[in-house]
Amino acid sequence: MLPAECLECGNPRYLLGNCLNCGSTDLPQALTDTVVLNLEAGGPSAEAALERLTLHVRAASEAGIRALIVIHGYGSSGAGGKIKWLVRDALENNFFSDRVDEYYFGEDLSAGSAGYHAVIKRRSSLKQHLSQFKIGNAGMTVLLMH
Ligand SMILES: [Zn+2]
Repeated sequence: MLPAECLECGNPRYLLGNCLNCGSTDLPQALTDTVVLNLEAGGPSAEAALERLTLHVRAASEAGIRALIVIHGYGSSGAGGKIKWLVRDALENNFFSDRVDEYYFGEDLSAGSAGYHAVIKRRSSLKQHLSQFKIGNAGMTVLLMH
């Protein structure tokens, strides 16, 4: 399911880019409060993946999305490892702090952990989303938007 709806024609839309139906460039309306963003899709360079994240953080924030589940892979080396490192480095350096309120690393979200309880308390809808992923998945980071 696409995460947003076009305010001009009412058709489903991606968060980024023009409406594929009517070409509208207006901001879409979020249809969901949580979006899963796979930064590994298409095998981008780490720099391109970070750019994709930056665009999505802005678009998600403007469309009213409340949480982004960012899939960046586990790798400790190679391109996958570099995407994870760049994403987490950007977060720790407050690169997205105007849009992102809090972030949680996947490995701190194992069932029953303090991190898991904190994140579910903030956004109960994440419970359903997180259940799709392996518990304590180090290949992802959850961003809670302002
Ligand atoms: Zn449209």
